[in-house]
Amino acid sequence: MHVIAELVPMTTEWLYLAAAVLFIVGIRDLSSAETARRGNMLAAVGMVLAILGTMQHGLIVKWEWIAVGMVAGGVIGLLMAVFMPMTAMPERIAIVNGLGGAASGLVGICEVIRHVISPPDGATAADFDAFHVGVAGLEIMLGALTFTGSMVAFGKLRGLVSSKPLTYPGQNVVNVLWLVVMLGLIAGLVMAKLDPVFFFVLAAMALLFGVMFVLPIGGADMPVVIAMLNAYSGLAAAATGFVLSNKVLIIAGALDGSSGLLLSLLMCRAMNRSLTNVLFGAVGGGTAVASGGGELQGDPQSISAVEAAERLFDARRVIVVPGYGMAAAGAHFAIREMADVLKERGISVKYAIHPVAGRMPGHMNVLLADANVPYDDLVEMDEINPEFAEADVALVMGANDICNPAARTAEGSPIYGMPILDVDQAAQVIVIKRSMSPGFAGISNELFVAPNCAMLFGDGKQVAEQLVETLTL
Ligand code: NDP
Repeated sequence: MHVIAELVPMTTEWLYLAAAVLFIVGIRDLSSAETARRGNMLAAVGMVLAILGTMQHGLIVKWEWIAVGMVAGGVIGLLMAVFMPMTAMPERIAIVNGLGGAASGLVGICEVIRHVISPPDGATAADFDAFHVGVAGLEIMLGALTFTGSMVAFGKLRGLVSSKPLTYPGQNVVNVLWLVVMLGLIAGLVMAKLDPVFFFVLAAMALLFGVMFVLPIGGADMPVVIAMLNAYSGLAAAATGFVLSNKVLIIAGALDGSSGLLLSLLMCRAMNRSLTNVLFGAVGGGTAVASGGGELQGDPQSISAVEAAERLFDARRVIVVPGYGMAAAGAHFAIREMADVLKERGISVKYAIHPVAGRMPGHMNVLLADANVPYDDLVEMDEINPEFAEADVALVMGANDICNPAARTAEGSPIYGMPILDVDQAAQVIVIKRSMSPGFAGISNELFVAPNCAMLFGDGKQVAEQLVETLTL
């Protein structure tokens, strides 16, 4: 403790204050692609200050385990940052989220053991008053369910667990009752001073609840679920802050909790769905149904990569519409190369970014930034939509739902009312995908049989590489 205090000439309180300010400014910067890197860096510096502040804590008796934790955590974090591809970002967030929840839950258990089950000499269970018992209960419950829920979400995203909603009759009622019993246990621990063993029962029930809560949700809705679980882990961290009387944890947890909730609400709004529908609607079974209550009228026109390259060369304005298929194929680098070749020929190339393209918020922005596409070329939906009517070619790269005209017209369709990219307004549309299969919403897309649309069938990366090859001949 004294070594850290001597090295860092600031008190814990000042370090925590500086960390909290950096977290807030960092989150603000994360809201725009231009400032996101700086925001990330500021928040990381904030975290270092928070750790230094905590290391000055007078009650630290053993440094060995802290050192082991820091080295192990640092190495794992570094390896994940270096080796996990951008396309695996949703899985990475799920793991980190789950481990955050587990950490909060374990701290809660430790505090219960330390204060209630076997208090050290001189201390009594009375030191841990009703308020502390209540927040420790919440911390354990939220931490445990975040851990298992995030692991199931990870499994669904990785394909280790079926991505289909796994449901049974009355599931939502069972889940709600399960939650009520857990909250009842916390109330019992606070008011009826139940035996502390019920903290362990609560932890076990919450671990199971995390699995029961996430299994009935479709794989493609996992990003919304992860944002929700992020909110829970934030609340668990804030509860930990109250248990430990640690201000920076309360602030960081509250920021995490509120930003996670806001993010899930924003994602739902962009899909024109309610949070209840995402969490309890078991959407995303992958069954293909016609978009507007009938089969597609007409056959798709299919073209080769050579024909597509000719159309691109003849164009003056090209708008690339990236979607989930670009991420799945890892085609973003080849697409950037293709855009570079077109730009060298004086052709304007922009990227139309739909808020829920792909499988996580900002998915396309992250991938395209990874491929060094300039920020200025990325244009948000509301801004780019009027430009489609002026575009010679809209090149749809592995996107489907986000440009499905059924969202405007087909009232019974799951995407009805979702704002879409007005791709059909372009003079010509070229769609790169492997087949006529539907996207996440499971509905057919009339754009693919429109007279101005041509399908370029194949794996996104291979086709994009063929285009680059043809364009550079
Ligand atoms: P979609 O899921 O609608 O369509 C993706 C298309 O990519 C598929 O039709 C598929 O067709 C094609 N594809 C898959 N793999 C490849 C490949 N290797 N090469 C070429 N094409 C491929 O994706 P969109 O981005 O258009 O829409 C996103 C959907 O996800 C929306 O419905 C949205 O609501 C939902 N969603 C998004 C979230 C987010 O945060 N972004 C969160 C939750 C849900 P084929 O199999 O024929 O190749």
